[in-house]
Amino acid sequence: MVDFNDTAEEAAFRAEVREFLETEYEPLRAGIRKEARTSDGFELTPTRRTWFRTLSDRGWVAPAWPEEYGGAGLPVKQQFIFNEETAERRALRPGGIAIGMVGPTIITIGTEDQRADHLPGILSGEVVWCQGYSEPGAGSDLASLETRAVKDGDDYIVNGQKIWTSGAHRADWMILLARTDPDAPKHKGITYFMLDMHAPGVQVQPLVNMADTHEFNEVFFEDVRIPAKNVLGEENRGWYGAVTTLDFERSSIGSAVGMRQNVEALIDFAKSSDQSALGRRESLRNELADRYIEAQGAMMMSYRIITMQDQGLIPNYEASMSKLYSMELNQRVATTSMHVLGLHGQIRGGDDRAAKYGRYNYGYMRSVANTIEGGTSEIQRNIIATRGLGLPRA
Ligand SMILES: Cc1cc2nc3c(=O)[nH]c(=O)nc-3n(C[C@H](O)[C@H](O)[C@H](O)COP(=O)(O)OP(=O)(O)OC[C@H]3O[C@@H](n4cnc5c(N)ncnc54)[C@H](O)[C@@H]3O)c2cc1C
Repeated sequence: MVDFNDTAEEAAFRAEVREFLETEYEPLRAGIRKEARTSDGFELTPTRRTWFRTLSDRGWVAPAWPEEYGGAGLPVKQQFIFNEETAERRALRPGGIAIGMVGPTIITIGTEDQRADHLPGILSGEVVWCQGYSEPGAGSDLASLETRAVKDGDDYIVNGQKIWTSGAHRADWMILLARTDPDAPKHKGITYFMLDMHAPGVQVQPLVNMADTHEFNEVFFEDVRIPAKNVLGEENRGWYGAVTTLDFERSSIGSAVGMRQNVEALIDFAKSSDQSALGRRESLRNELADRYIEAQGAMMMSYRIITMQDQGLIPNYEASMSKLYSMELNQRVATTSMHVLGLHGQIRGGDDRAAKYGRYNYGYMRSVANTIEGGTSEIQRNIIATRGLGLPRA
């Protein structure tokens, strides 16, 4: 059963987070926003760095990590409250793959030396990571990846290519999956590495998306040496480590809150006095009502996942339901925003109005990727059909 109520302790924690955001984040908000206009979101700009340090002093950069590794060791419900409150305030959350996925993986399957080497840089935000899983011929069917790593003394020599690698152009390190035993069944010949992106033979080529932003890249490896001490877990058992990493994806409460806020902003726009004709259009009124209901539905799915995690259960097809629903909803919200804004929805840059409307134009085009990144909608439906509904595989 979904538990919506805070205990007394959780309510006190929620108040503490709110007060912290009020006193510590609000003075930085304008600076963070200003810097965001000229950076690409992967960069640790000066005000972002200040915010990271403030969070770090409180142990809240990585609320989910155990205290012994620099986290706050918060129980699942308190992590959720922290995420929910920061999303409600539209405060910058130090998340990304380093905090959310790489750190927890190193904590779980890494050695003490690997933890000591890598966790401090992740916590300070100074060391940026990217995820090298997908290849031109291996996306949904990731286990058919072909990048090769061959043992050579104390090193492995890597050759091959990754694609769609978000933030590789800013990254210092990559979590990399490469094939070490080409003769083994495909899930069993893969090893999980930590790769220094500054090593000789690593080449990053930008891919600019249809929203005209440079977010992801192609990464090529030519005789790149990785010391054996940078293997995560055991040789040829990398598939299981990679699955552990993907398990660390949490409920998408941040995106559910963000979608509800976007719908509310569109409703305010349609109600505003100079747009009152818009607010009277029946089709638009109905469309906004639908989006509002759906955004509440996305919130409920996030609550369900967090309740399961709080009870020690591992969400499986439930996480796929939440991902599928939220991402398809985000695309519908973006389409509705174009209906509400009309011609203003085409404004992007070079105009004072771009500051007000440009994000909708960007959001509309960026949302296309939502149903591809992190596992496509078709793959989520396959999981729900087979594991959730018990339907036979094709
Ligand atoms: C914005 C963005 C950021 C990304 N960032 C990263 C990153 O940082 N690191 C990384 O490693 N990857 C990243 N990716 C890659 C992403 O994980 C893959 O694009 C995704 O897994 C799909 O793989 P693919 O593109 O090879 O498509 P394919 O797997 O080739 O799929 C093509 C089409 O076939 C469908 N399909 C495939 N198999 C099935 C099936 N069994 N049943 C039904 N339909 C099927 C798919 O749904 C899709 O419509 C990113 C992608 C995007 C869009």
